Amino acid sequence: MIYALMEEIRQFNKARDWDKYHTPKNLATSVMIEAAELAEKFQWLTPAESWEIEDMGPVAEEVADVLIYLLNLCDKLHIFPEYAVRAKLMKNGKRFPVRKGVVDDSLRQKRMTVNGPGSDDPGPLQGRKT
Ligand SMILES: [Mg+2]
Repeated sequence: MIYALMEEIRQFNKARDWDKYHTPKNLATSVMIEAAELAEKFQWLTPAESWEIEDMGPVAEEVADVLIYLLNLCDKLHIFPEYAVRAKLMKNGKRFPVRKGVVDDSLRQKRMTVNGPGSDDPGPLQGRKT
């Protein structure tokens, strides 16, 4: 699916002759700009309010903008996003091994409060670096 999406983006850009603008520098910069636009949607919300946005349309549009530029960048640099993600997950898995029994239920409850229900992300309580 992701490669079909990349092809669709490639054809979209080709039809508009936009490739001349899509240097790695411009695309990487555009990823950052669109990521800032995404963050802006949550900027002044409390953590709880950030779970309660009723209209996800504008958020989804910014997610799409980020993803389009990122996939376009991958395409231009011949980076296979699926392999890049799997390689990074493998690297992160070695860096942050699963530690069974370390997380007690009270900490798990705090994480759910901060990160929302169903979150597996340890979030800021663990001080994790990425
Ligand atoms: Mg945007």
